[in-house]
Amino acid sequence: MDDLYREVIIEHYNNPSHRGTLENYNVRFEDNNPLCGDHIEITLLTDSENRISDAKFDGHGCSISQATADILLDYVINKDVEEVKKMTKDSIIELIGIEPGPVRLKCALLSLKVLKAGIYGLSSADEIDLDE
Ligand code: ZN
Repeated sequence: MDDLYREVIIEHYNNPSHRGTLENYNVRFEDNNPLCGDHIEITLLTDSENRISDAKFDGHGCSISQATADILLDYVINKDVEEVKKMTKDSIIELIGIEPGPVRLKCALLSLKVLKAGIYGLSSADEIDLDE
């Protein structure tokens, strides 16, 4: 892994900006990645114009899963929900600046899966396909 990006991951892991649970939210979803033991819960507040006005994540797991959740929320706050629906695996790779191997990729994609499953109101994040 590139040193610069590894530092970014460690920085977000150690000092996340968006860790916690929103008191007022209208979207909430959680899921885990059994391969690694990562768990992510995301709470979102969207406004009347379908923008994400605030978001927080909580959970535990490896540094990639937790740091990516923080980086993802940094990116989606103040964005249109429709824009977030279009995000894919490649969006995450671009955001975190590294392309993890297949095992670590599942860790990196967990927060986007949780976010999108919540937005779509699904019962399971397994219905989210991030390859398209
Ligand atoms: Zn992990």
